[in-house]
Amino acid sequence: MGNDKRRLIAGNWKMNGLLQDAIEFMDAFGGNPAPDHVEVGLMPPFTLLHSMSERLAKMGVTLGAQNVYNEDKGAFTGSICPMMLRDADCHYVILGHSERRSIIGESNAKIRSKMNATWLHGMEPILCIGETLEQREKGITNAVLAEQLAILKGAPKDKPLTVAYEPVWAIGTGVTASAQQVTETHAFVHEELTKLGHDCRVLYGGSVNPGNAAELMACPGVEGALVGGASLKAESFMEIVKATALVVS
Ligand code: PEP
Repeated sequence: MGNDKRRLIAGNWKMNGLLQDAIEFMDAFGGNPAPDHVEVGLMPPFTLLHSMSERLAKMGVTLGAQNVYNEDKGAFTGSICPMMLRDADCHYVILGHSERRSIIGESNAKIRSKMNATWLHGMEPILCIGETLEQREKGITNAVLAEQLAILKGAPKDKPLTVAYEPVWAIGTGVTASAQQVTETHAFVHEELTKLGHDCRVLYGGSVNPGNAAELMACPGVEGALVGGASLKAESFMEIVKATALVVS
């Protein structure tokens, strides 16, 4: 499976959303099919995957999950394996999100083994990388990103992959990286990926909203967005998709 190079606007609902929220979201999103040149993805919590998959597929929205376990089955209470996600028609799996790195303590090695499991079952990881404010202020952003990307060493190059650059200080804070910071950092991430032999999309994530989407999506090297808070309501999510479609049309 090759890499899709269309822009991707992916909504990460995190630990939000009950069945009624999912129905309201799909009712509102329904009349707005995704434009051909922009792919729309949605990563609701596990509990909503089966109930959303059929309707989202009809709307042209690609389904994904926010995490996966790196084993196929067995005594791993509370975990979800790749086949369970395939069973719900997931294509994407978010891995290495900063909330999982910092709150759950997920290591680069664990993230790599989850990537392998994701690939083994025909799905596409969205690998999140990003520096903390302290690391940016110390001037070590590129070193941090290079270390996070180094998990791709030795990884198969023919597998589908999307990377999301998400400065930790911009996630859920309402603060976004400036266009210059985004452009410079995406150039570095693309360079590193090229060295590692991966030619894949790099999304930006961190407080993307309808007001800043056009500017961020126009930055060179930005091939879409991973959107948290603004993806919870269909209206704001649609605005981001539309702004992106205009940038690339
Ligand atoms: C995210 O969850 O990856 C994210 C970027 O969140 P937010 O858009 O709310 O900052």
